[in-house]
Amino acid sequence: MGLQRTQAVVIGRRPLGEADRLVTFYTREFGRLSGVAKGARRPRSRFGSALELFTQGQLLFFETERSGLVRVDHFDILHPFVPVREQLEHLGQGSWVLECLGRLTAERDPQAALYGLLVRTLRALEEIPRPARAALAFTLRAVDLLGHRLRLDRCLGCGKPPGDAPRLDFAAGGLLCGGCAPPVGDLLQLSGQAVRALRQLRVLGWEQLLAASVSGAVEAEIASVLEAHVVRLIGQPARTPRFLAQARRSLTRATGP
Ligand SMILES: [Zn+2]
Repeated sequence: MGLQRTQAVVIGRRPLGEADRLVTFYTREFGRLSGVAKGARRPRSRFGSALELFTQGQLLFFETERSGLVRVDHFDILHPFVPVREQLEHLGQGSWVLECLGRLTAERDPQAALYGLLVRTLRALEEIPRPARAALAFTLRAVDLLGHRLRLDRCLGCGKPPGDAPRLDFAAGGLLCGGCAPPVGDLLQLSGQAVRALRQLRVLGWEQLLAASVSGAVEAEIASVLEAHVVRLIGQPARTPRFLAQARRSLTRATGP
C-alpha cells in the first residue's frame, strides 16, 4: 500500500505493547487518524520527542489492513508548541481543544478548515496571555464549522427577540424566550448580556475575537454554555473541565488565597 503524506497535529497518544505507541493525529488531508509508531518508546527511537501532544508535523504513513490503523513512518516536527504543554492552565485549555477534536469528529472525515482552526488556536495558546480565551474562540468556531451553530437572534417559539433571561434549548438549536420556555425542565438559563456578547463574538475575525473585551463574568458564562453544548454533542461528560477545575484548585492551594 502506498505512502501518504499530510500535515498533522498529535491529539492523543498511549503506550502499545512493549515499545510501540498508538498515536492519534488530526490531519489536514484525512481528518482524524490513528496509527502505530513502532518502537516509539525505545530510548533511541527515531521518532525522538516528535510524538508529544500538540506537536505539529509532517506525517508520512502507510495504510495497513488492520482495523483502520495506519503505520506511522515518519513525523517531522514543524512546530512543537512546547509552551502549551509546560503551564498547567495552558495544558488544561489545550487538552480541552484536543478532546473536542477527538470526540466531535469522525475518523477520516477531512475538514481542512478545522485543521486550520486547530493550528491557529495552538499558536494563540502559545502567544496570548489568556489561554481561556483561545479555547473559547476555538470552541465557538469549531461548533460552527461542525454544523451545530445555535440560533441566537430570536426565540424559536414565537420569533420575537429572546429578551433578558432566555433559555437555551440545545436539542432545538436555539433560544426560547421567558414566555415560550417550559416552566420546568433542564434548559440552560442564559443572561441577555451573554447572548449579546456571543452574537458579537461570532462575527469577529480571529485576531479580534482573541482580543475582544468581555467582562470576566460574561466570558465565564459563555465558556460554560459552549462547554455544555459540546458535552451535549459528545453525549457524555467531557473529561477536561474536571481536570481544569482540579488544576485551578491545586494552583490556588499552592499560591495561597
Ligand atoms: Zn418566545
